[in-house]
Amino acid sequence: MTDCIFCKIINGEFNTEFIYENEYAVVFKDINPKAPIHLLVVPRVHVESLNELNDKKLMGELLQTVKDAAKKVGLTSYNTVINTGKEAGQEVFHLHIHILGEVK
Ligand code: AMP
Ligand code: ZN
Repeated sequence: MTDCIFCKIINGEFNTEFIYENEYAVVFKDINPKAPIHLLVVPRVHVESLNELNDKKLMGELLQTVKDAAKKVGLTSYNTVINTGKEAGQEVFHLHIHILGEVK
C-alpha cells in the first residue's frame, strides 16, 4: 500500500523511532498522545481494520506484542483500544492497537 501512512512508517520513510518491534509488528509513539504514554502496535502487513483481519496467528501475535511493548516501557496498568470503522473514529485504515497508560 503505497499511500498508507503506517506502511510508509514501517518502511522507514519517516525515520520513526520504533519503541519495540518483532517479526509481526512495529510499535511507535502516537503523534497526538491522549495519555502520558500512548503507543500504537501496527502489524507489518497492511490490513485495513480488525474486520479484515482473518489470520488468527497474527491476532495472537498482536496481543503478545501489546504485552511485550508495555513491559518494555514499564507499563503494568494500561488500556488498549482498537477503533474499527469510520463511525467508530478510525482515522488510519491500517489496523493498529492503541496502548494508553502512565508509568507511576
Ligand atoms: P485511529 O483513530 O484509531 O485510526 O488512530 C489513528 C492514530 O494515529 C491517531 O491517534 C493519530 O494521532 C495517530 N497518527 C496519525 N499519523 C501518525 C504518525 N505519522 N505517527 C504517529 N501516529 C500517527
Ligand atoms: Zn498500510
